Amino acid sequence: MDKAIEVRELRKSYGSIKAVDGVSFEVMRGEVFTLLGPNGAGKTTIVEILEGLTEPDSGDLVILGQKLSKITPKIKDRMGVVLQENRFMDRVTVDETFKLFSSFFSKTLPVKDIVKKVSLEEKVGSLVETLSGGQKQRLAIGLALLNDPEIIFLDEPTTGLDPQARRNIWDLIEELKEEKKTIFLTTHYMEEAERLSDFTYIMDHGEIIARGTPAELVSGLDQDNVIEFYLDPSLGVKDLEALGEIFPGYNLQDEKVNLYVKEMGSSFSLLLRWAEERDIKLENLMFRRPNLEDVFIELTGKGLRD
Ligand code: ATP
Repeated sequence: MDKAIEVRELRKSYGSIKAVDGVSFEVMRGEVFTLLGPNGAGKTTIVEILEGLTEPDSGDLVILGQKLSKITPKIKDRMGVVLQENRFMDRVTVDETFKLFSSFFSKTLPVKDIVKKVSLEEKVGSLVETLSGGQKQRLAIGLALLNDPEIIFLDEPTTGLDPQARRNIWDLIEELKEEKKTIFLTTHYMEEAERLSDFTYIMDHGEIIARGTPAELVSGLDQDNVIEFYLDPSLGVKDLEALGEIFPGYNLQDEKVNLYVKEMGSSFSLLLRWAEERDIKLENLMFRRPNLEDVFIELTGKGLRD
């Protein structure tokens, strides 16, 4: 497989903040590559460098086979970009917006085809201000597809959307993947990374802290099951110490306890005994498989949305 993007030792600081601190990665053509990390990890800074909106302090970029010190207009013509926040003119229609953006390119795909792809047929004559959040986001993705790009950057494309709108965007991203587009996605939703990614890099404080397919990252945890429950407010420090003695890898996120266990049955018996002895209620008790958020918690001790 060809590489669509190659980045070596990328660095960018804002004053004393090292937003990107020596990051290297490769994105293969036709794959969905995800940068996952909490707020402020450095994801947007990397995307902005790759989109040519920000220049790096140092580092090498190879995009679509061309070695560059910064992104050129010619390379930009082969990319589509959906920024984290989109500003549209509200008092124009969807159709007029597509036509306006088409005029920026020498050659574009037919607007009718794009409108169909992003499922906005019924809204084509409507003013942009009447669109829902999910429809606006599909408009943004449609505009990014006008020049039939080889690489599409999607910076947190589902932040703030309701679950149905989020799933619609996921379906659209999966269709683009089937068309062999290279998708560079940033998100702090681990469900999104798990569902869409071929390859995931997890970032924190400007650095890559883990990489692999979602399945590889999760299996690297070496724990098969998670028992999750919410803390009883009457719980004391001593109770938690006792819990830590039984489950050394336990983790506390706000009010939620995660116990990482190999064997579910015997672990659950131990937990029940611990709770019964202390007359503790196990609120919202749940058994689940580990996910990318658990990988992040294991590496940093905090959650992806903290
Ligand atoms: P989010 O999920 O909140 O978008 P992120 O992972 O995209 O976060 P960045 O936006 O890349 O993170 O920010 C990385 C760090 O760089 C943060 O500490 C941020 O405050 C800082 N930063 C980003 N852009 C600027 C800027 N233009 N000026 C000063 N500091 C900046």
